[in-house]
Amino acid sequence: MTITQQREVNLDSARHYVEQVYQAVQQRNPGEHEFHQAVKEILDSLVPVFAKHPKFQEQGILERLVEPERLITFRVPWVDDQGKVQVNRGFRVQFSSAIGPYKGGLRFHPSVNASIIKFLGFEQIFKNSLTGLPIGGGKGGSDFDPKGKSDLEVMRFTQSFMTELSKYIGPDTDIPAGDIGVGAREIGYMFGQYKRLYGNETGVLTGKGLPYGGSLTRTEATGYGLVYFTAEMLASRGESFAGKTVVVSGSGNVSIYAIEKAQQFGAKVVACSDSNGYIYDSNGINLDTVKRLKEVERKRIKEYVNEHRAAKYVEGCRSIWSIPCDIALPCATQNEIDETSAKQLVAGGVKYVAEGANMPSSLEAIEVYLKNDVYFGPAKAANAGGVAVSALEMSQNSARLSWTFEEVDDKLKDIMKNIYRNSVHAAEEYGHAGNLVVGSNIAGFLKVANAMLAHGIV
Ligand code: GLU
Repeated sequence: MTITQQREVNLDSARHYVEQVYQAVQQRNPGEHEFHQAVKEILDSLVPVFAKHPKFQEQGILERLVEPERLITFRVPWVDDQGKVQVNRGFRVQFSSAIGPYKGGLRFHPSVNASIIKFLGFEQIFKNSLTGLPIGGGKGGSDFDPKGKSDLEVMRFTQSFMTELSKYIGPDTDIPAGDIGVGAREIGYMFGQYKRLYGNETGVLTGKGLPYGGSLTRTEATGYGLVYFTAEMLASRGESFAGKTVVVSGSGNVSIYAIEKAQQFGAKVVACSDSNGYIYDSNGINLDTVKRLKEVERKRIKEYVNEHRAAKYVEGCRSIWSIPCDIALPCATQNEIDETSAKQLVAGGVKYVAEGANMPSSLEAIEVYLKNDVYFGPAKAANAGGVAVSALEMSQNSARLSWTFEEVDDKLKDIMKNIYRNSVHAAEEYGHAGNLVVGSNIAGFLKVANAMLAHGIV
């Protein structure tokens, strides 16, 4: 048999193995479509790794990795402003501690269930590994909807949530942070409750406020990191953000700071959205207005057009992807770009898509990008800046000091550059040059898999 033939045989058997593991995941986790999707994307990328390194298969690395170390669910009772008892469900998945303590955000959103938490936790393992920092993968949250709740309701809910969650976390074991629906206010209430129960364990949460152990640049980190990563993608093709038209979805923390950095780099950002609809401003979005509406007044994005008459508001989010642009930065939520939306983006001339949200593109959408030579930056590489700065917050907490904004921002830039470079190299090494999905999945996986090999069967 020639070397090429042998390589084909190895690839075939790796494909078969990965398919078997995927089928077992589907059977064992029925109905958990988001979790299946996240597993499928990673497993398909890893075929060349299993073909090259049989020891990973022999040691059951994949079978172990797709099963969370622990999934905790709990009741969260609280009393609303009318005096009525409400019950939500709380989750924490401690997915993998192979390379460090569990690390990952908490999401408060009515769509939260075991499938969503497991997809997010699974992705977090590889994302955290890519940062180059010693953090394992975890995620949590609740089906509680902070939208429309009073401050006191949010406080009562988060206190009840933390009272239970606190039993499972700690600065060296599991360190939650924010995600959709969990920002500075929620982190503040949760930290207050934890402190009341166990004392001042500064490092137990990240994304904290600056007066009590937070890190400068953490608020901006995911959005800025996304733009630093995209700038690397652009530079590899001899381009930059300057003069480019950009569409950003969402108007939360990730979107706002992605818009800010893209504008600083000279791009024109023409659209952003919330869960009700989107605004299109051909003059370029006025970020001060968006910040005030969203961060201070907690209002809907449609209010923007009352202050900027040339802008228009469109109810519903899907058609935001039909706006012609050079760069699309989906920063809202999972599966916000399906096959049809991806085709609209291509028709509108998009050249780069980089993900600020977690898994915003469906598997079919990714196929469309790859077929049409759209350079695609997948979430676990492109949005890793948030959790990377969370890890820097943990370092500062342990050392009992605070770095300046510039110090943290410089480290963030380096981390995003390294993630880009490592993903490019891994893709080349395993025969998929230019494919950052394959590259980032492989680069993230190898470190975790090698740590698991070193630890034995645990
Ligand atoms: N929720 C963010 C993410 O998806 C940040 C997690 C963290 O800072 O721990 O990566």
